[in-house]
Amino acid sequence: MINISNPVLGKKEYEYVKDCLDNNTLSFLGDYILKFEKNLSDYSNCKYGISCSNGTSALHLALLAVGIQEGDEVIVPNLTFIATANAVRYCNATPVFVDSEPLTWNINVKKIEEEITDKTKAIIPVHIYGHPCKMDEIIKLAEKYQLSVIEDCAEALGAEYKNKRVGSIGDIGTFSFYPNKIITTGEGGMCTTNNKEFYKKMISLRNHCATKKRFWFDGVGYNYRLTNIQAAMGVAQMERIDIFVEAKRKNAEIYSELLKDVKEIILPIEESYVKRIHWLYSIVLKDPYEISRDELIKKLRENGIESRPVFYLLTDMPPYKSDEKFPVASNISNRGISLPSSVDLKIEDIKKIVGVIKNRRGKKQRQKRTPDRL
Ligand SMILES: *Cc1c(COP(=O)(O)O)cnc(C)c1O
Repeated sequence: MINISNPVLGKKEYEYVKDCLDNNTLSFLGDYILKFEKNLSDYSNCKYGISCSNGTSALHLALLAVGIQEGDEVIVPNLTFIATANAVRYCNATPVFVDSEPLTWNINVKKIEEEITDKTKAIIPVHIYGHPCKMDEIIKLAEKYQLSVIEDCAEALGAEYKNKRVGSIGDIGTFSFYPNKIITTGEGGMCTTNNKEFYKKMISLRNHCATKKRFWFDGVGYNYRLTNIQAAMGVAQMERIDIFVEAKRKNAEIYSELLKDVKEIILPIEESYVKRIHWLYSIVLKDPYEISRDELIKKLRENGIESRPVFYLLTDMPPYKSDEKFPVASNISNRGISLPSSVDLKIEDIKKIVGVIKNRRGKKQRQKRTPDRL
């Protein structure tokens, strides 16, 4: 099976994890935690990195740090992983959904302003599938209405907007290290920021609002700690981040070259002002395309290729059900498909995948064209 996104683990991951086990440095007090936080925050051009248990807790910490509370509204894209909206709900606040841009698939900045009310406190731009959002426009709106900006960078480690690494542009950036993300620690997450107050708040909330005085707590916090063992993997993974980013970009280049003459498919784009990362190389099937998206997924599976639909709209699912229309996101969601995108994907694999996509008609259609049917 060619998987959608395999983690790539090397000798260093084993070596550093073994080091933790050998030295009994397992908890969040270990040196790998500090090293990982420094590596990732340096890489993201941020002063502070706050590791935590996963990308969802990173979002929750970020929202709490900027002061989101009950009754507040937070603007999020409709086309994203559910964690973006769930973290807003954890604060007893309300996510307000915005449609996508047709080409980048990101939150449509032209539609944000009409959703801003007296209750709006923050925007979470999600760099979806690794394409950075239009941050200048978002920051401008945030300044105009005094909103916080939390970049959800879970799918975009290594991406750049106008030569700035994602996670360093808004007030706080959040990352995920789930095994199918750009780098992995098994489970894990990180917040990045240049703001000392936010940093202090997140450090505190991550560990039950603990203080310097042992077992004295000055608030209701969480256990959102990463372990030293996980951080050890993270340090090893970060040593190869440049290789990972380039490999993913190279995969995308090969896919796009081989698929460019299939006119029923819309290929992913890269705007001139960004360096994107193709977390998952994802395409949209145009209407008409001989077979449905779900039939193509099935066909790929029959050929030993894992693929998956682009995210379902949050407003189509029970927790966030709404009758409001989001035509652009809806089209991408209904017709979009993510293809295998592992760092170690081989050119032959890509050729095989493209072969199946190009040969989608299969037998049935050819039969239809035989003269006796005319
Ligand atoms: C993966 C992901 C998250 C959540 O990360 P976890 O580590 O799985 O909690 C949040 N937002 C987006 C956009 C993601 O893709």
